[in-house]
Amino acid sequence: MAKVWVVPEVQDQKLKKISLEMITLARRLGDVEAVLIGEGVSPVAAELGNYGVGKVIVADHADLKTYTAATYGRVLSDLIRRDQPEIVLIGNTATGRDLAPRVAQRVDAGQISDVIDYRDNLFIRPIYAGKAFQQVTAVAYPLIVTVRPNVFKAAEPIGGGAAPIVETATVSLTGDDLRVIVRDVVRQVTGRPELTEAEIIVSGGRGMKGADGFLILEALANVLGAAVGASRAAVDAGWRPHQEQVGQTGKTVSPTLYIAAGISGAIQHLAGMSGSKVIVAINKDSEANIFKAADYGIVGDLFEVIPLLTEEFQRALAWNSEQAG
Ligand SMILES: Cc1cc2nc3c(=O)[nH]c(=O)nc-3n(C[C@H](O)[C@H](O)[C@H](O)COP(=O)(O)OP(=O)(O)OC[C@H]3O[C@@H](n4cnc5c(N)ncnc54)[C@H](O)[C@@H]3O)c2cc1C
Repeated sequence: MAKVWVVPEVQDQKLKKISLEMITLARRLGDVEAVLIGEGVSPVAAELGNYGVGKVIVADHADLKTYTAATYGRVLSDLIRRDQPEIVLIGNTATGRDLAPRVAQRVDAGQISDVIDYRDNLFIRPIYAGKAFQQVTAVAYPLIVTVRPNVFKAAEPIGGGAAPIVETATVSLTGDDLRVIVRDVVRQVTGRPELTEAEIIVSGGRGMKGADGFLILEALANVLGAAVGASRAAVDAGWRPHQEQVGQTGKTVSPTLYIAAGISGAIQHLAGMSGSKVIVAINKDSEANIFKAADYGIVGDLFEVIPLLTEEFQRALAWNSEQAG
């Protein structure tokens, strides 16, 4: 069996969803081990055992408090050289996309990026902004694979899973690795799920007409517990912050439900959201390209449609919770 490493992402001592999604893929590839990197991450090691991870190597050090490519890259590549895993899974997230190529270069590994499936011994990845799919295999190891978030089902705990073997790695960073020191990371608090982790996203484009137009979209997001996204046109106009941009030069998302309002469906936008499970488009132009990607389309004025949807969802969710309780 191949030795497969997962590099989990941890926030506030909790495994991020992508970590569990990578474990799902890893289980299909071979024997799952994990490398936990950070400060104060040691307690997470035991939790990984619940998901069938046999061994966890923990690099827990004050110098690893915040991610930098130099420090995390150094730790991970030293461990790969030492233990020679066949495959290393890293999230295709903002940090993972930064980390993976640096590690691949350091350990002289091949890299397969943005993997969305694994079938018949082949990794599947979208190319040309999602217009085609490539089937890739490795001819040499180690192999670095980055995994697209929200595509693989998050691993479920395995009942009665044995405690993993936990190994504490020695972290010895030199001045060269510590040339960049991140003093603090300021997190914006929105009360909404993070875009790349959200189950539901409501996105607006130029059709929202202005920053104020997004208020109705936010009201819908609040009812659904959704994240708010935006097209580049809305971001470039200064209506929404860049971290909400979905698309080729924004974030890649694949929620269960993506509602696109006042978005025409340019290829660069589709590149970031076409992996969503169900796409609902609201547009007044019945010929808009977004309808080609959508599972459900509503042709109409979004300023009429969105408040109606919000009201209906509110009613349906209230009815559901009444029935449940
Ligand atoms: C290199 C490059 C990278 C890019 N990266 C990205 C990216 O990451 N993400 C991205 O989104 N774009 C990106 N773009 C831009 C992309 O090409 C489009 O210009 C952009 O997506 C258009 O945004 P939009 O759909 O909001 O606006 P538009 O194309 O102007 O569409 C607005 C839509 O709103 C509809 N509408 C207007 N009023 C209403 C109403 N009242 N009710 C209902 N519908 C209404 C219209 O019918 C129209 O379809 C990139 C472009 C380039 C060249």
